[in-house]
Amino acid sequence: MPQKVISIRPDTRGTGAQAPRYDGGRLVDTLGRPMRDLRISVTDRCNFRCTYCMPREVFDADYKFLPHEAILSFEEITRLARVFVGLGVQKLRLTGGEPLLRRGLPDLIAMLAPLGADLTLTTNGSTLVKHARALKEAGLDRLTVSLDSLDEATFRKMNDADFPVEKVLDGVTAATEAGFSQIKINMVVKRGVNDGQIVEAARHWRDSGHILRFIEFMDVGSTNGWRMDDVVPSAEIVRRISDAFPLEQVEANYAGEVAERWRYKDGAGEIGVISSVTQAFCRDCNRMRLSTEGSLFTCLFAQQGHDLKSLVRSGAHDDDIRDRVAAVWRARDDRYSEIRTAETPRAKKVEMSYIGG
Ligand code: SAM
Repeated sequence: MPQKVISIRPDTRGTGAQAPRYDGGRLVDTLGRPMRDLRISVTDRCNFRCTYCMPREVFDADYKFLPHEAILSFEEITRLARVFVGLGVQKLRLTGGEPLLRRGLPDLIAMLAPLGADLTLTTNGSTLVKHARALKEAGLDRLTVSLDSLDEATFRKMNDADFPVEKVLDGVTAATEAGFSQIKINMVVKRGVNDGQIVEAARHWRDSGHILRFIEFMDVGSTNGWRMDDVVPSAEIVRRISDAFPLEQVEANYAGEVAERWRYKDGAGEIGVISSVTQAFCRDCNRMRLSTEGSLFTCLFAQQGHDLKSLVRSGAHDDDIRDRVAAVWRARDDRYSEIRTAETPRAKKVEMSYIGG
């Protein structure tokens, strides 16, 4: 039984001294990695209690989610996103928590779309039937839907909110009808929980035009009771699927792509595997995360963020924000997954629902 924790939000470093002026030069971190991808958490709340992400014992009725005044407004998010795009960010992903719980989300999408970055959203799909069309019309480019199992009992057990598979599938259909194509379907695999359904999921999504992606169960946060024994290595997943439907590897779309791509030899589409535990990809990691309350995290496994909200709310000029972000990126040296040991999962890390998945 995980220990009861009331507040598990991380420390945040203040904006500190004035950052040096950004010289406009190539922006890479200490390991030579460029900045490409920004994930923005728009809420720390979720209507699911996935056991591996927001276990109900911790995120219960007593849990204190962020009050409205603490979270970034749409105007603040857009202002920050504009600065990041100006520094070279090419992709913005809205996430959470469950991003579709944030009221008026299509308005934010309409504000972000003109920035010209690839605009994507990750959702549990529970309210997509209602929102898919508005998201498309607002300018959302792409969609990722999480669905860990097609088996009713397993899915309900994993989301721990008694939510049915059918409603998520209806959401994917609604999104397809609204004009989204090649939707990514995320399946987190936990041994002994849903690994028996890997091949079934592959069978379902083959030939659908959508892309099923298997994610290794990760030791994010400090509340999900992670154990290496629960991880099903991607290599095993590929082997199991390939025994039923032969696969061959495909080149990455771009350097730093999270998923390794495999396609069905019979032309029925492709799958992806995200092996952040067994084949760490820190070497090419070009991602940052902006938390719901405006802290910048340079690694999913970070213990500390960099407070941008205070800067935004203190009347700073956009150039000051740009200088701060550039300085944070240039100092970045994170490579948690490469140096993970038996001990590191026990470290106090930020929760994914707060930082953005
Ligand atoms: N609520 C949205 C959703 O369900 O997709 C967005 C947020 S969720 C944190 C983003 C993704 O992170 C989901 O696909 C979820 O399954 C995945 N995730 C959460 N905790 C994880 C963990 N411990 N290991 C691997 N993936 C995880």
